[in-house]
Order: sequence, then C-alpha cells, then structure tokens
Amino acid sequence: MSVQEETAAESAADTAQPELEVWIDQDLCTGDGICAQYAPEVFELDIDGLAYVKDAGDELLTEAGATTRVPLPLLREVVDSAKECPGDCIHVRRISDEVELYGPDAE
Ligand code: SF4
Repeated sequence: MSVQEETAAESAADTAQPELEVWIDQDLCTGDGICAQYAPEVFELDIDGLAYVKDAGDELLTEAGATTRVPLPLLREVVDSAKECPGDCIHVRRISDEVELYGPDAE
C-alpha cells in the first residue's frame, strides 16, 4: 500500500468513528476526582465537590445532565474514566442516536 493509500485509509477510519458525547449524573458522583485526573480537559470538580463536563472552550457546564462532545484524542481517557468511576455515573453515548456505548447503561 502506498503512503497516499495508507493516509486515505486512516482518514476513512477516522470518519468511521462515531461522534460521541459524555455527561455525568451528579446525583451519584462521589467527588473523588478520578475523572478529572484522567481527562482534565473534559472533567472538572466544581466548588460543590461534584464533577461536571466542560465544553470545547474549557467552560464548566453545571446544568444537570449537560453533555459535551468527546474529543477523539481523549476518547481513551474518557472511556477509562467511565469504567473506573466509583459512582458509575459517567455516560458516554453516540450523538446520532443517543445509544450509550460506555457507562452504566451500556449494553
Ligand atoms: S469519577 Fe465519577 S464519581 Fe468520581 S468525581 Fe468523576 S464522575 Fe464523580
């Protein structure tokens, strides 16, 4: 395969990756901060001691159930956060149909 073909294949793989978003159920958050350690660009603890997601402009979204897009380079960190979250309250879902792929409601 030529370099051009490899690059084309990689971009095809990138576009095949579904767009994901993440939200936190603050009612179950224990405030331990694991998510903010794994992906500080996406998660942050507010002054109430609970974790919230941030938008692309680093703005904390403190509305209950607020979602933010998962940046592709941070997908692993966000997924690991959902897996390790002691409150089982990080939900990662596909934007197109809102099906949860990682988190307590994932199949
Ligand atoms: S890992 Fe889960 S329980 Fe811990 S602060 Fe983040 S959202 Fe809350």
